[in-house]
Amino acid sequence: MKLIILDRDGVINQDSDAFVKSPDEWIALPGSLQAIARLTQADWTVVVATNQSGLARGLFDMDTLTAIHTKMRRELAAAGGSVDAVFMCPHGPDDDCTCRKPRPGMFEQIGHRYDVELAGVPAVGDSLRDLQASAAAGCSPWLVLTGNGKKTLAKGGLPDNTRVCDDLSAVADALLQDN
Ligand SMILES: [Mg+2]
Ligand SMILES: [Zn+2]
Repeated sequence: MKLIILDRDGVINQDSDAFVKSPDEWIALPGSLQAIARLTQADWTVVVATNQSGLARGLFDMDTLTAIHTKMRRELAAAGGSVDAVFMCPHGPDDDCTCRKPRPGMFEQIGHRYDVELAGVPAVGDSLRDLQASAAAGCSPWLVLTGNGKKTLAKGGLPDNTRVCDDLSAVADALLQDN
């Protein structure tokens, strides 16, 4: 199977320093839904792995997060795409869990769920911790320059094999050309 793992905020939708706390605050980035649709239609299985420490911080609850993801899935379906699953870390930075990126726990869960080797699986993010988690799990890290991406690129220290693309649409272009 062709599996791709996406960060959510700053990759699929606009990121916010104040957190995405409601469906209204979830706003797709230009072209991102269409990019996922192109991947879906080319038989890619698209999975989201997202840190959602806003849960631990009490900024929103699980019902609200479900409502946010219902909106995401509805807009994606309208664009002709789908996300197979959303994996998320509900913990805060001080919880010392194994799933919060930069740790690779969510990626390992995804590998188990789909029974795939993670080597070479593209994992797309806009923050260094996404790329670090991806690399630690053996995936291929891809940085997009949406969300925090430009800051992340400027700071440097990216995993050696990181590929850089303008946005999710450019990632889809590259993957669909490669196959
Ligand atoms: Mg992000
Ligand atoms: Zn966690």
